[in-house]
Amino acid sequence: MSTLLIKNAYVVTMDDHHRELPDGGLFVRDGLIEQVAPSGALPEAADETLDLRGHVLLPGLVNTHHHFYQTLTRAVPAAQDANLFNWLRTLYPIWARMTPEHVFASTQTALAELALSGCTTASDHLYLFPNGSRLDDEIDAAREVGVRLHASRGSMSLGESKGGLPPDSVVDSEDVILKDSQRLIERYHDPAAGATVRIVLAPCSPFSVTGDLMRQSAELARQHGVRLHTHLAETEDEEQFCMQKFGHRPVGYMQELGWMGPDVWFAHAVWVSEAEIRAFAGHGCGVAHCPTSNMRLASGIAPIKEYMLAGVNVGLGVDGSASNDGSNLLAEVRQAMLLSRIKDGITGYSLSTEPERRLMAARQALWLGTRGGAAVLGRADIGALEAGRCADFFAVNLDHLEYAGAAQDPVSAIVFCQPRRVDYTAVGGKLIVRNGSLMTADEIVIVQRHNRLARGLLEA
Ligand SMILES: [Zn+2]
Repeated sequence: MSTLLIKNAYVVTMDDHHRELPDGGLFVRDGLIEQVAPSGALPEAADETLDLRGHVLLPGLVNTHHHFYQTLTRAVPAAQDANLFNWLRTLYPIWARMTPEHVFASTQTALAELALSGCTTASDHLYLFPNGSRLDDEIDAAREVGVRLHASRGSMSLGESKGGLPPDSVVDSEDVILKDSQRLIERYHDPAAGATVRIVLAPCSPFSVTGDLMRQSAELARQHGVRLHTHLAETEDEEQFCMQKFGHRPVGYMQELGWMGPDVWFAHAVWVSEAEIRAFAGHGCGVAHCPTSNMRLASGIAPIKEYMLAGVNVGLGVDGSASNDGSNLLAEVRQAMLLSRIKDGITGYSLSTEPERRLMAARQALWLGTRGGAAVLGRADIGALEAGRCADFFAVNLDHLEYAGAAQDPVSAIVFCQPRRVDYTAVGGKLIVRNGSLMTADEIVIVQRHNRLARGLLEA
């Protein structure tokens, strides 16, 4: 039995009542929140006590879409100013040189960045496995950092010779993909509350896998109760590709393949119609909104407020670090709020007086990053600070230069102001970031190893 007491913080619970406690804290026992209360009502002692006076305390952020391995290819000159399809064509041959060591090292880099930005649960989508690399390499690396991981077993089976986008050298046979998917589910998937590792099946995109693989992956996932994930409706190019090759728009294609349901979430979902938004809501599909990536690749602006109004679960994702090019999830909360406002400015909603059409507020953006993400990943045990949930949280000290002058509304301050490293991050009550430093791995070692491997990939 171990206990942790946090007191004197500005607590943002993100519970169903949107409760905030200006002077409150948590009492944690064995990794679970036992009590959220004003500081004076909490127990007086614990194995460890943290006085977080001057800090805002929030539920840990949930990242719903990433490709950790892409931290090895950030800002590659030839891919800097390309749209999605050209960006991919430039990078596929570089990624094809990766080894298990690259997967391990890049996972630690991405998760260290995420932890330092308040993230406590991350979903990653690894969809190419060159030179003997496996999802196991990522899971091993994640265990060391200590962030909860939803490891998506991605796949590509539709190479150039069969009309797909990726070169044949980076695609696998469907038999190999399905066998490995089954192995990973049996070995790692933990459906229990408080799980640190879950497996997801995630054929990469309509333009890199066959419909057959999508169908069989869904069948396998549903036999084992694991979730399904893929990229969808990211760009206009993809819409044209689907119309020409399958005779459907991307969402219609998913409907045909049995890929609509509460166990499915899609990354991006930018190019959708009103009817398709209603279809997502009706089937309970989730959306991983990746605003920075959508801006970086000039993909478009996802209709996030429309999704929210329709009742679609929306979470945030930093997306791969070759299209962001960072893994700062708190910055992504800010981007989501700002990009939504640009869309409102373009469509004229910014002038609307209807309450539901008001500009996205800081607290709404934080909701997407916490409760929204937890719902998208199908987890009721994270995403809020309330008794019975996992003690996953982060804290930001407002007594820093970046927040000077913003004390009137400490919660909005951490979204409106330029984010800096968070001061504390805890997963299951264990502090993995303390005083702005990563506690579970050596940041300098991570950076040096990462740079050596990245140089090798690009110079090969
Ligand atoms: Zn992606």
